Amino acid sequence: MKKPFVTLEQLKEITKQYPTPFHIYDEKGIRENARQLKKAFSWNKGFKEYFAVKATPNPFIINILKEEGCGVDCSSMTELMLSEALGFQGDDIMFSSNATPPEEFVKARELNAIINLDDYTHIDFLEKMAGIPETICCRYNPGGVFKTANGIMDNPGDAKYGFTKEQLIEGFKKLKEKGVKTFGLHSFLASNTTTNEYYPTLAGILFELAVELRDKTGADIKFINLSGGVGVPYKPDAPANDIMEIGEGVKKAFEEILVPAGMGDIAIFTELGRYMLAPYGHLVATAIHEKHIYKEYIGLDACAVNLMRPAMYGAYHHITVMGKEDAPCDHKYDITGSLCENNDKFAIDRMLPKIDIGDLIVIHDTGAHGFAMGYNYNGKLKSAELLLKEDNTVQLIRRAETPKDYFATFDFSDILGDILK
Ligand SMILES: *Cc1c(COP(=O)(O)O)cnc(C)c1O
Repeated sequence: MKKPFVTLEQLKEITKQYPTPFHIYDEKGIRENARQLKKAFSWNKGFKEYFAVKATPNPFIINILKEEGCGVDCSSMTELMLSEALGFQGDDIMFSSNATPPEEFVKARELNAIINLDDYTHIDFLEKMAGIPETICCRYNPGGVFKTANGIMDNPGDAKYGFTKEQLIEGFKKLKEKGVKTFGLHSFLASNTTTNEYYPTLAGILFELAVELRDKTGADIKFINLSGGVGVPYKPDAPANDIMEIGEGVKKAFEEILVPAGMGDIAIFTELGRYMLAPYGHLVATAIHEKHIYKEYIGLDACAVNLMRPAMYGAYHHITVMGKEDAPCDHKYDITGSLCENNDKFAIDRMLPKIDIGDLIVIHDTGAHGFAMGYNYNGKLKSAELLLKEDNTVQLIRRAETPKDYFATFDFSDILGDILK
């Protein structure tokens, strides 16, 4: 059973000050999880997590992770700007972009970020636009399908990211000639994995490749970036990852492949987003309508603008009807938002307790790729974000959008009259 990290009583208090819908994050959960990750990789001297900013680009949340020793993984100008404003610089920033605009490379070089190149042709592009740094990382795409002992996990052959192996060999040589002194290697082969095998399998592939690249190019490889992809159980009965076991699995591959090759001082980096935050965020909404036609519908004051994953991927997000945790799930509902799009449904044919108008609804695991994916379709506005602090007080960490924010991009003209005043 999935239990919300806030109680009905807490939510009743919170909603007196902050109306639904809003996202709320659990500081305690975030910190404990970040510490556990660090512990799982404490065998590796240089270990560092670069939080994938795109997952939850909120400066208050990122500051918590910063206090826990995390760097940031950025892939756009605004993510770099946000990170700079929070005091990240140099080796604290991984710039893992693709189809990168020139000004973003320039900005990343200004911040002395570690650049993670997505493509062979980016070598000349980067040199021309921003110059080649002394340390650089390259992203690998092995092609084909990616399998572990448990079956096919994803299809890198169809993914737009990374260098082929031949390109990496040529690329490392070329980068050395252009003055690169130390290298990193990166790959992201599967998303939201829920087997403990993903990282160890990926690590094995990258470790062997690192040995080969050193042997063929003489490159000095300093770190291996396992990127994101460690998942969370969205469904209540789904298996959860065991981060200690994942850390042990990577250690085993490290000791089997890198240590004997004399590469035992390589640092392990991660760029986790979902694993760092998804379970520590809830979208809280209120049931404002019920509708009885060919199916039973409950209409919420939240919509896909606040959480896009169900509409975009058919993703499952668990729902708790607050105060009815122990009531029988004997009603079948579609739980919808108000967009004029039939895919604006948080749940379809979900068995839940009887929902009454005014019930507070918690949608689970929205702490990553939740608020961040939001958009403004139908002119709907993005919600506030709140932080449940360790002392159980609540802090506003992003105000809700107002119509003025929505219309702000017409501020160069007076076509809308007084609406912006
Ligand atoms: C999205 C992304 C991540 C984070 O992925 P999660 O699935 O949230 O862990 C890390 N690195 C890169 C390059 C990404 O694009």
